[in-house]
Amino acid sequence: MAALTPCPPWLADDGAALLSRSSAGRMPHALLLTGVPGIGKRAFSQWLAEALLCRQRTDHGACGACESCSQLLADSHPDYRKLVPEGANAAIKVDPVRALVDWLQLTAGQGSYRVALLEEADTLNRNAANSLLKTLEEPSNNAVLVLSATRIGSLPATIRSRCQTVTLKMTDREAAIAWLDPLVNAPASALAAAGGGPFAALLDASDESQAARELLLKAWHDLLLHKGSVGRISDSLSALETALCLATFSKWCLLSVKMSANVAVGANPAVEKVLSETRNRLSNAQWFTLYDRLLQLHRSDSASFKTQTVLEGIFADIRLMTNG
Ligand SMILES: [Zn+2]
Repeated sequence: MAALTPCPPWLADDGAALLSRSSAGRMPHALLLTGVPGIGKRAFSQWLAEALLCRQRTDHGACGACESCSQLLADSHPDYRKLVPEGANAAIKVDPVRALVDWLQLTAGQGSYRVALLEEADTLNRNAANSLLKTLEEPSNNAVLVLSATRIGSLPATIRSRCQTVTLKMTDREAAIAWLDPLVNAPASALAAAGGGPFAALLDASDESQAARELLLKAWHDLLLHKGSVGRISDSLSALETALCLATFSKWCLLSVKMSANVAVGANPAVEKVLSETRNRLSNAQWFTLYDRLLQLHRSDSASFKTQTVLEGIFADIRLMTNG
């Protein structure tokens, strides 16, 4: 960690509320942070961890100068841990969770909190979730576990019911636009096109995301307008992650329906252009059918298969649906 993490300015009220609970000795043992993609769950949980561990906390969070802050900056704080998804199918696995649960039972070395972050907790596999329950049922005194997840519905109810859920919302759009302004072009429309998450807007503007979007748009265009073979089109996406392809295509199905109804969609202009050419290729009912199928694939283990293999089947079906 090169620098301490600022609280995303549009989440300042949520941050202040949690810090005042901590000051009053009413910090929950387990928090579940959720909110739209890119709202800032990761940055917020990091900021919160640093603030809870700081010895001379200010109203804005960690001081950046005390021993605890120095240890965080040196990535050597004894009372701080973070788990993120790993491996080919990007899941949080049972062994690291067991180690974390054991560690959380210990008394904090420096006498205050012991803080653990679990990012993308909706990727906990079943065994890992079961291991975590032990800590949630019998939390040790000074332990604070902060889970963050976009799709909290994917978490077992036993986990959800033992956490206090905090839904992070855009409370200060002007602050978010000011934050994005030096980083992206046309920040207000970039924020809308990204679905309201500033970090998602930032990611969308990266060279890598733009290159991926161009590939996906070309594939979508060629597939629906019958230009080139299904094999060639799925090969053209081989470098992209399966999950990204499925998530993007399912979003485009819904956007196609909205555009047919003349609803303002606020999408990226290049996306709107291609979708306006392809949206009449399927009926609304067919777009919804396709959306469901893409979503099911996204939720299954298809992420562990090669992108071409997953896409070829559904692409062939789309070709059949658009033959008429
Ligand atoms: Zn400090």
